[in-house]
Formats: sequence, structure tokens, C-alpha cells
Amino acid sequence: MTATLYTGIGELVTNDPAQGDGSALGRLADAALVAEGGTVAWVGPASRAPAADARVDLAGRAVLPGFVDSHSHLVFAGDRGEEFAARMAGRAYAAGGIASTVAAVRAADDAALAATAQRLAAELRAQGTTTFEVKSGYGLTVADERRCLAIAAELTDEVTFLGAHLVPPEFAGDPEGYVALVTGEMLEACAPLARWIDVFVEDGAFDADAARSILTAGAAHGLGLRVHANQLGPGPGVALACELGAASADHCTHLRDADVAALADSATVATLVPGADFSTRSPAYPDGRRLLDAGATVALATDCNPGTSYTTSMPFVIALAVRECGLSPAEAVWAATAGGAAALRRDDVGRLGPGHAAHLTVLDAPSHVHLAYRPGVPLAHPVPQPD
Ligand SMILES: [Zn+2]
Repeated sequence: MTATLYTGIGELVTNDPAQGDGSALGRLADAALVAEGGTVAWVGPASRAPAADARVDLAGRAVLPGFVDSHSHLVFAGDRGEEFAARMAGRAYAAGGIASTVAAVRAADDAALAATAQRLAAELRAQGTTTFEVKSGYGLTVADERRCLAIAAELTDEVTFLGAHLVPPEFAGDPEGYVALVTGEMLEACAPLARWIDVFVEDGAFDADAARSILTAGAAHGLGLRVHANQLGPGPGVALACELGAASADHCTHLRDADVAALADSATVATLVPGADFSTRSPAYPDGRRLLDAGATVALATDCNPGTSYTTSMPFVIALAVRECGLSPAEAVWAATAGGAAALRRDDVGRLGPGHAAHLTVLDAPSHVHLAYRPGVPLAHPVPQPD
């Protein structure tokens, strides 16, 4: 195996408090890192770097663990730009807009769905994301959910079955019948292709009883649990996620004190997706400060989807979280890396200590602060390869 020494790192974020400055980010200045066989073998001051087979000088740039985007919907067809424009002109968002994407997905062939998903995955990577989750949820038939999951599985190991995204139009008069399909034939067909199951718990989507039966059925098929929770109002999603031991409750825009306490007292990560609050012109952003002060674990994700958060940019999400959710730049970077890893129950990514995956994000900037300080600027620098 070839060992590569990355040196000239102006600031190395390890997310290991035992390293460097002792903060949660475990920052080292004037640092170096040795990667061997895809794994970090050594980190420390550049002046003490060991010899290696190859050497890359990063000329003072900052290096972070690659972003971990734990919530995306990359498998879809169609465009909802007009819906976005109408919303920005004052129309309110309700959960039903998903149905237009469902119609487009059912009409699209596999090649078109895969091409869109691959293009968006390339966008994610170009902006510094190295691990990402992808959900189904725009097929909503057994066959369409299955093919969306198969396309997602070509892109990532973190595949989520979201048959419970919305009750599709053909079940409008029989929502119980749709829950029976999701927990029966659809789950049987989809569970082998997924690691996770997710439910959109919201007025207009699924209530607590339906969500409980869907999540419980998913767990019985060996799937880990995730919940779209408390996006549009203070609903039952967060409480249910914590009660059932979900890895993550996502959105968390409207929380009661009891929801914050439940998140703080559980292993369920609060995943904030402020890109959705931005793109729906939500009257409120999630209060990340309140969650952190209570002791909850906070992650950031893009929620990339064509209706309510059509961004693939973790740096944009970091900037929003700093400006609108009360996170410091350091807290936002931790949430976008180690926090995302926690939301996926992964301990191999999101950190850059010895033994972790050598997923480096290099910035054309001297420190992590620039991700929020220079919003909208493409700072992710292609990771140089040794000559
Ligand atoms: Zn989502």
C-alpha cells in the first residue's frame, strides 16, 4: 500500500478533541496527515510528519473531514421551479407538492432517473461531500419504489426506503389501504435494497399511528429508523422518533420543550435541514442553539429534493445554520461532518483521526470559518493526488 503524506495544511479539523486545540473540532495548525489504503494512518504537526511514499503540499489550505449529508432525495424526475417561484411570490407550502414529482417519476425510465441522480451526486461531491444518504419516496408503487432504491444503491450504501412520503393520489380515499401496502408487499420488496426506513410525519402526510406501524414494520425487517419530523408544525414526529430509537429526527423546525428534552435524553440525532426552511420561505428556522444548549446531538443535511430544497451544497447549509439556526461556525462544521455521521450511526467517517476513512475535504481557504464567512463561494478544492 502506498502511504501519502498531505502536508502544508493550514488548519486540520479532526473532530477528535484529543488532537490539537482540544476543542470539539480538534483543530491543528500547520498540520500534516498520512493516508494509507484509504485510511488515516497519522495526523500531527507538519514538523513531526513521518516519511511516506508520496507527498502532497496543500499550500496552507484548510482540511476537514468530508461532509456527511445524511438526508437527500436524489432520485426524481421533473422540475418544480415554477412552484418555487409561486411560493416566493407568497403562496404557502403544503405537503402535497410531492405528488407532481411522483407523476414525473412514474413516467420516467430508469436511465433518466439514474442520470439525474448521478448528476446531483457529482454536485454533492464537488462541494466537499464524501458520504451521503439517498431516499426513495417519489415512486409510491411497489415497482417504482423498488427501482428508485436500486438506482440509489448504485450511488451509496446509505439507502432509505421512504414509501411513506405521501399517500399517492390513487389511495386518496383509502389511506389505511396505502399504509397496509407500505407495511406489506412494498416493504417485502424494498427492505432488501435499503438500510433505513423513513416516514414523513405531518398533517397531509402520515399521522403518529400510521408512522408507528410503518416504522415498527421496518424495524422488524431489519431496517434502521429515520423520521421527517416537526417540519411544518409541532407534530408527533420527534417524540415518536425518540421513543422508537430512530437514528435521526429530521427538520425539527417546530419543537416543544418536551421534544427538545426527548432529543437531549436519547441517541436520536436532531438533523436540521435549513435549506428546506429557506426554500419554503418558512416563517421559522430550526433553533439549533436551543438543541445544543439542551445537550442534543445536531446534524446538518441538504434535504436535496426538487420541491423544497433543491441544493446539493453542504457549505450553503452550513452558512444558513450559522446565520439562522444559532450555530457557531465550528458547531456547524461539526454538525455537517461528525453530526451527519452520528445521524447515520457511522463511526468510520466524519472524523480524521488515525483509523478513520481518509475522506478529505480541502478548502481554498485558511480555516473552516470561511464556509460561513464566504457564503455562496465554491471553496471546495479538488483533493490533489500525488504525482
Ligand atoms: Zn426530506
